[in-house]
Amino acid sequence: MKLPVGVELDGSVYTEVKVGRADSLVIAKTTEEAERGNPYSAILEWNVGITENLSGDSGTIEGAEIRRALRFMPFESAFALACYGMAETKKDDSISGEYACPKCGSIVKAERGETDGIEFDDTDHLYALDIETLDDPRAGIAITLEYPVELKRRDSGEVIETVESFVMDWPTLDQCIRAHQKCPDAEMRMQFALYSSALRTINGKPCDATWKSAFGTRFFEKMDAEDMATLNEEMKRYSINVTRERICMKCKTHFDAPIDLNGFFASGLSKKAPRRDRPSRGQ
Ligand SMILES: [Zn+2]
Repeated sequence: MKLPVGVELDGSVYTEVKVGRADSLVIAKTTEEAERGNPYSAILEWNVGITENLSGDSGTIEGAEIRRALRFMPFESAFALACYGMAETKKDDSISGEYACPKCGSIVKAERGETDGIEFDDTDHLYALDIETLDDPRAGIAITLEYPVELKRRDSGEVIETVESFVMDWPTLDQCIRAHQKCPDAEMRMQFALYSSALRTINGKPCDATWKSAFGTRFFEKMDAEDMATLNEEMKRYSINVTRERICMKCKTHFDAPIDLNGFFASGLSKKAPRRDRPSRGQ
C-alpha cells in the first residue's frame, strides 16, 4: 500500500509498505495491549505483525529494523496501515458504519445484508477510498495563527512571548505511545502533550525540550478554537478518515460525514473463542 504520509528514518523517506496477514500470535498480542488500555501500543504490535517490508527511493527496510521504522511512522499512516492489515487478514475490506442525520437524527446505516434473497452492500470499501498522499513528510506542518497566542508568566502575568507561527513534525506512533503514557485518561491533554512533543519551531526559532516542558502544552491549551480547527484539518488531510456523502432515507437530507472507522480495526481483534455450551450431564 502507499502510505498517506511517508516515514522519515535516518534521513531517508519510505512511502510504501508490503502488507501481510496477521497470525494468531499477533492477534493475541494486539488484543492484549488493547485490553490493557494501550491503543497505540496495540497498533504498533499489530503493524509489526503485518508489515513485510517498507520501501522508498533509497531502499527497503526488512526484518528487525521494521519495528523501529514503524515507531517513526506518522500516526495517520500507522492507522491506515493497521486498517489495511485488518482487511488483508479478514480478506474483507468493507467498512460498516452508522451515520446520524444532522437534520432529523435518524441513523443511516452502511451495512451488508440480504432482503428477499437479494444481497445488498451499502458498506464503504477501504481499497476504494480516495486518499490524498504526501510522500515527503520532512517539511512538517506549518501554521500561521489567525489569533496569536500570548504566553505569560504565571505569577506576574508578564508576556514572555507572543507566538504567531509554528512548525510541527507529523506526530509519530512513538510520540502517541508516549503522550498516552503521560495522560492515559485525558484525551484532550494527551492530544496537547502529543502536539507539544512534535513541535519543531516557534516564530521561526527552533523549539527545544526546555521550551516544550515550560510552554508546550499551555501553548496548545491557549490556542484559539479556529486555529486549532485549522491544525486538526491539516493533520487529517492525508488520512483514510475521508468524508463521504450520506443520504437520509427519512428526510432525504444529503450530508457529509467522516467515514466511521471506529469498529473496523477492532473488528478482527478480541474475538473470544465461542463458548461451547456443553450439555451438562445429569446433576
Ligand atoms: Zn434525516
